[in-house]
Amino acid sequence: MSGGADALDDLDRRLLALLREDARRSHRELARRAGTTQPTATARVRRMEDAGIIQGYTVRLDADAFGGGPDATAEPDLDAPASVACHWCRKRTAEPLWATVDGRRHPFCCPTCRAAYRDRHAALAQGL
Ligand SMILES: [Zn+2]
Repeated sequence: MSGGADALDDLDRRLLALLREDARRSHRELARRAGTTQPTATARVRRMEDAGIIQGYTVRLDADAFGGGPDATAEPDLDAPASVACHWCRKRTAEPLWATVDGRRHPFCCPTCRAAYRDRHAALAQGL
């Protein structure tokens, strides 16, 4: 045993769970939610950071903003030009055409896809 995860007690695990939900929570809020004092929460977090149990804090991104779409499984590629997936054929495009349907803006790769989506949407709206 290396004293890694096995060294975590219930309080450590609660703190980690809270940090995984939102790493920007203050130690004060962490303490309150975990049922301990702020100095204790701070000391525990520092200890887990020093021990390498907490290796860092990251940012969670909206995959849609990087062209992934809701069913994307890959990590967003920050080096790629900001592209979006066509709402009709899913092809990625850096210069989408936009259409607002029912108050939501959707990107399309070409006029054909945009027209197809609008036709389909209109047909559904009419119950066809
Ligand atoms: Zn398309």
